[in-house]
Amino acid sequence: MISEPSRFSFDRLLDISAVLLQAVGCREKDARIVARHLVDANMVGHDSHGVGMLPAYLAHIKKGLVELDVELEWLNRMPALLQADARGGWGAPAAYTALDEAAAKANELGLSCCTLANAHHLGRIGAYAEHLSARGLASLHFVNVYDHTPLVAPFRGSDARFGTNPICIGFPETAKNPPFLLDMATSIIALGKVRVAANKGVTVPPGTLLNDQGMPTTDPSGMAGFEIKGALTPFARHKGYGLAYACEILAGVLSRSGTIQPEHVRRGGIQNSMFSIILSPQAFADENWMDEEMAALGEYVTQSPPMDWDSPVLIPGAPERAWRGKREREGIPLDKKTVDQLNTLAEKLGVDGLT
Ligand code: NAD
Repeated sequence: MISEPSRFSFDRLLDISAVLLQAVGCREKDARIVARHLVDANMVGHDSHGVGMLPAYLAHIKKGLVELDVELEWLNRMPALLQADARGGWGAPAAYTALDEAAAKANELGLSCCTLANAHHLGRIGAYAEHLSARGLASLHFVNVYDHTPLVAPFRGSDARFGTNPICIGFPETAKNPPFLLDMATSIIALGKVRVAANKGVTVPPGTLLNDQGMPTTDPSGMAGFEIKGALTPFARHKGYGLAYACEILAGVLSRSGTIQPEHVRRGGIQNSMFSIILSPQAFADENWMDEEMAALGEYVTQSPPMDWDSPVLIPGAPERAWRGKREREGIPLDKKTVDQLNTLAEKLGVDGLT
């Protein structure tokens, strides 16, 4: 049993998560990568994409919705265009493998693009942009979600027709600038945040959710326990809706996996496809000039007088960095419900020694 719901170190949560995944048949090499990807999401404050996903992941394994013994297949390996198929296997191991190959191409050619089809949940997309940023590369990622009940209503619609189709743009650190990271769902809030609100018994912000009658609600309980009653709303009205649609085309169509349209089977798992563009900034402009220009831009933007002096203007990526610093110092807190869910899983699987 995991004792006291308190604060956990990265390594402890990683070990707990990997042990649970292996207990249901996940290969050790995949379990460590999937677990690390989940715990890292907790580390940067995105608990919605952290170890709280394990009950869903384990349920997917049990229902045969994740292929446990497949390797990534390359569909296309042209110089600047890579296409990979995860063949229903784990998302993070497939994504890191495909993106590492695309990174090598971007270093060689200045630019590459990569599609990844049929991956189980890719989790927090920002982690992939950070992985590339750490290698000096900028990247853009468009992701669609399928095999799952739709979650997000189209603009002017009253029921769900899309997943939360995330978009992510990362730019590496330069001498004077921290890395830039814009990583967001195209719904106003991610489904996981509604689940976290339901777990905590709090409401969600007005305008973010429709009930199963298509009416606005702040009550997240219809989305508790992975039920889907109602729909999230796209951010920025027709603009977020348009970007969610673009994710279906770029990720769903170009990867060859298909989109969320209903002719494709929905087994109740979470599958993602991703379209990524990876680029080496030095192939585009002088490194020193970019550094100075971005520093000047950052200073200009963040010096806008804040409407609320306790909430200064931030550059995207700053909240995640702040969370990482805090949780490295203080550990990762888990809510009681998540700890209870992990303990229930451990008990069912006969896994000991999680304390
Ligand atoms: P969010 O709203 O918390 O943050 C979105 C972006 O805004 C981040 O880049 C963040 O750095 C930036 N940001 C936040 N506050 C800011 C501020 N005050 N000033 C400037 N920038 C700020 O993220 P979200 O939309 O809830 O998405 C959460 C996570 O869910 C993401 O990591 C995303 O990849 C993931 N996700 C995954 C899937 C999937 O199917 N795999 C689907 C949807 C979302």
